[in-house]
Amino acid sequence: MGDNVIAVRGVSKAFAGVQALQDISLEIAPGEIHCLAGENGSGKSTLIKVISGVHSPDAGTVELGGETFTKLNPREAIAHGVQVIYQDFSVFPNLSVMENLALTAELSDGRPLVSWRRMRQVATQALEKIGVEIDLEARVGTLPVAQKQLVAIARALMSDARLIIMDEPTTALTRREVRRLFGIILDLKARGIATLFVSHKLEEVFEISERFTIIRNGKHVITCLPEELDRKSFSTYMTGREFDET
Ligand code: ADP
Ligand code: MG
Repeated sequence: MGDNVIAVRGVSKAFAGVQALQDISLEIAPGEIHCLAGENGSGKSTLIKVISGVHSPDAGTVELGGETFTKLNPREAIAHGVQVIYQDFSVFPNLSVMENLALTAELSDGRPLVSWRRMRQVATQALEKIGVEIDLEARVGTLPVAQKQLVAIARALMSDARLIIMDEPTTALTRREVRRLFGIILDLKARGIATLFVSHKLEEVFEISERFTIIRNGKHVITCLPEELDRKSFSTYMTGREFDET
């Protein structure tokens, strides 16, 4: 209890015929960069949905800000500072960058932004927070993937985020864009915001994580520091198969 941004305790979740998660526990400290690694279908996205209140677990609890939830809803998760950047970024493609950001401000504030000047100001500030420049007039649907993602991150940071969850965020990024994303994650850390970075890519996990957790077939395999595990063992834990050296 106490110091964690989030503590997941003994969470299980089944869908018709599939045990997606089984007795998963996970703790993340303030500002920690924690990677959640696992192969496709291992349950990573399901765990994110439990943490963000989208799915109720069949068993187990999620602790946020000292409160223990057996049934968490998305509103409560957001109120406790949990923000998710989904793989599709969940932006409004037909609205401009400015409108996407202004709308988010309105939704979190409950007050309409009355002038274009004010909308522009709010949107500019949101992008400045992550140190990027994007054409405010551009329709988000027409932006390259990396910029859509930046808009999604800027939106996530408009409320008081304590934990940003990124589901396989590098899938469609170039090497350069990955570097920029890692820079943003480190900046968030410096501001005390934790990241749960979901990935199945070994190199990324070793590069960005301070600690990582591997899950396989919905079960917890190991939580450790990158320096505590060699790459060969990592692959073995991910796949459940011995790595053949030849
Ligand atoms: P990952 O994100 O690690 O690829 P998921 O959490 O998406 O894995 O999926 C874990 C398992 O749960 C998979 O077998 C998947 O088919 C199943 N699953 C996930 N969501 C649903 C759902 N809404 N309905 C039924 N099965 C699901
Ligand atoms: Mg997934």
